Amino acid sequence: MPLVTLKEVLDTAYREGYAVGAFNIIDLEFLEAIVLAAHRKNSPVILNIAEVHFPFVNLEHIVPVVKEIAREEHFDMVLNLDHGLTMEAIERAIANGFTSIMFDGSHLDFDENVKQTREVVKMCHAVNISVEGELGAVGGAEGGGLVGKADPSKYTDVVQAKEFARQTGVDALAVAIGNSHGKYKGEPDLDFQRLKAIRDAVAVPLVLHGGSGISAADFRNAISLGIAKINFFTGMSEAAIQTTTSYVQRIGTQYNDYPMMMKEVKESVAAVVAEQMEIFGSTGKAANH
Ligand SMILES: [Zn+2]
Repeated sequence: MPLVTLKEVLDTAYREGYAVGAFNIIDLEFLEAIVLAAHRKNSPVILNIAEVHFPFVNLEHIVPVVKEIAREEHFDMVLNLDHGLTMEAIERAIANGFTSIMFDGSHLDFDENVKQTREVVKMCHAVNISVEGELGAVGGAEGGGLVGKADPSKYTDVVQAKEFARQTGVDALAVAIGNSHGKYKGEPDLDFQRLKAIRDAVAVPLVLHGGSGISAADFRNAISLGIAKINFFTGMSEAAIQTTTSYVQRIGTQYNDYPMMMKEVKESVAAVVAEQMEIFGSTGKAANH
């Protein structure tokens, strides 16, 4: 079936109390690993391509493949621009047929974030594309190798969140509640009280970035408090590197080892993704909108 919008997938997940994972594509290997996991788990999936990863993945080449896979598979697939920062990237994603845009205005002051997000919503909704906004600053840097540390002074403000959602018309809102991109320094310490207050104040599904390193119990708690989309990348990257390292140590570095090594890498990344789908509760919800 064709790609579906973020709104279609998240509204059902939010209502039924599970979350859909958003996993980043950086090449065909990661794309196939994610699809393999969704297929095995009968789960909907959000494919993320982050603007910071544009130097690694050619949109014009990979998006036709994504669309072809969506047509062949039975589960809901969303193609989302992750952390869109520039209008150039957003327009390129729209031209390529993305069904969701995350506009990251979290570095702007509140009024400017509202203004720019509202513009993106207007542009995207006119062509049936969903929009995710972000308010508050998630720690670390998307796609970077940095150790993320959340700054409590930058957590999402409840009153602002309500205004932001109302004024922009976003379909989903990414929150900062102690979550962080990259590797966590120590145990993640999520502010669930704040999350609950945001959920009560805002009508749209909420999004948790920086999923790698958060415990299954914390995920379940967060999902029960309105999180319906979880961004996850670092754990996949980590699995790929560990598998590569262990393959080289076990088997060696023969010139013809590459295909077998990449097969193991793909399986290890698929296993990480499948495990998250179990925890997020999206298994068996393949086409549930
Ligand atoms: Zn993120």
